[in-house]
Amino acid sequence: MPDFILSNPIKTGAQRVPYQYAWLSENESCDVAIVGGGVSAALCAYYFAKSHIKTVLVTSKPVGYGKSCAFTSQFQYECFPNLSQVIKKAGKDQAVSLFKLGMEGLNNIEELCSELADDCGCQKRDCFYYTHDEEHYDDIYAEYLMRRHLGCDVEFLDKKTARDRFSFPLEAGVYMKNAACDIDNYLFTQELIHEASLRGCRVYENTAVEEISSFDDHVVLNTSTGRSVTANKVILSTGFSLSHYLGLPVVSRTAFMVATKPVPDYTGWENRCIIRDIDRPYNQFKTTADSRIIASRIENLFVKTDGRISKLMPAKRVFQNQYAQMTERLNEMFPAITGIRPEFEYAGRFVETRDLLPYVGEHENYGNVYFNLCTGSSAALLSEQSARLLLDLYQNKPNENRAVFSPQKRSGGKSAAAR
Ligand SMILES: Cc1cc2nc3c(=O)[nH]c(=O)nc-3n(C[C@H](O)[C@H](O)[C@H](O)COP(=O)(O)OP(=O)(O)OC[C@H]3O[C@@H](n4cnc5c(N)ncnc54)[C@H](O)[C@@H]3O)c2cc1C
Repeated sequence: MPDFILSNPIKTGAQRVPYQYAWLSENESCDVAIVGGGVSAALCAYYFAKSHIKTVLVTSKPVGYGKSCAFTSQFQYECFPNLSQVIKKAGKDQAVSLFKLGMEGLNNIEELCSELADDCGCQKRDCFYYTHDEEHYDDIYAEYLMRRHLGCDVEFLDKKTARDRFSFPLEAGVYMKNAACDIDNYLFTQELIHEASLRGCRVYENTAVEEISSFDDHVVLNTSTGRSVTANKVILSTGFSLSHYLGLPVVSRTAFMVATKPVPDYTGWENRCIIRDIDRPYNQFKTTADSRIIASRIENLFVKTDGRISKLMPAKRVFQNQYAQMTERLNEMFPAITGIRPEFEYAGRFVETRDLLPYVGEHENYGNVYFNLCTGSSAALLSEQSARLLLDLYQNKPNENRAVFSPQKRSGGKSAAAR
């Protein structure tokens, strides 16, 4: 199942490329080889290089050009779709620990950005989660109580109290202070890898790993440039296709994104917070540092890489309808903001594990291989936790997430390759 992004995401469309790297033209050897050039690989490269471990990073595309450039550029500590639904999916204890992990991850990311040469626009943001449907009033109230119980700084808004703060009609909402973090994820990925390279990590772009041979005490990676990397361990941060090797399921959806041209102001939008409704599919609205709006919608549509839906319908028209509806909705919600016009429209495969937790760690069928698969709308936060878990694993240190993130434990010891 190849990864895909359709059309040109805002991050790569509107931005300069800060750092570039050569492809692998000589054989390499190191302690740890990292495969991938997205945010999960970047976090590993950074933490491992910071710990003076000899690392090499190889990625098939330019750095930051995987899913990580389709990102809405925000880290949030709540998980899709909402806490009560996560409890239904994953059980109360797991949902609460996931939520707390997110909170911790958010602070870690903030600290990390302060260590980088560029802070990547990292800024805490408030979140607003709402419904315009009377029937869901109680659900929103329950969500408010749960979050308050977990110690979050939350406020419940009903249609009267919300009127002065938002220009769109709603029945009920939960306003949560500092629950998310705006960040330029493309730049963040680039800066982390650059910083890792300054600390000795050797980085190669446009170099795909085509084969991994595992031996008792090392691995050899053969690459598309005809050269190889020999390492004691390899970290695979290559995206959701890893689930196939682990024989573990993921749920695949399509994320549609519209990024507008810069707007003059944000009238009717309290504190430029991140807004999300509870519709199905859900819609999310955020602002960017260069004064744009990004609207996103996650649909259950399964779009094949040949651009067809369910192998039949050409997706182009469906996509255009989605983008048009999303822009119309923005104009309806924010009538006082003038000139809301789309500039970037794109879509990507949006993947989640069933229990919303990452698959990170070892698997007995693959010697000297660390898997690193973080998915969903909190993927980046979880990637931060995962990178530290992998470092602890490599250094034989305990880590409280080891068992819950373990792909081995969740597959019951089986893998697709083993079946
Ligand atoms: C539209 C959209 C919006 C999103 N918004 C958010 C958000 O707001 N917040 C959030 O936390 N998450 C969000 N996500 C999810 C998040 O983007 C991804 O889960 C995350 O970026 C995955 O990062 P990654 O490093 O694991 O994978 P990727 O960024 O996909 O990187 C995989 C890398 O592996 C490389 N690779 C693959 N195969 C090979 C090979 N054989 N050899 C060498 N290299 C290889 C690729 O070149 C690529 O660099 C969003 C996803 C989408 C699609």
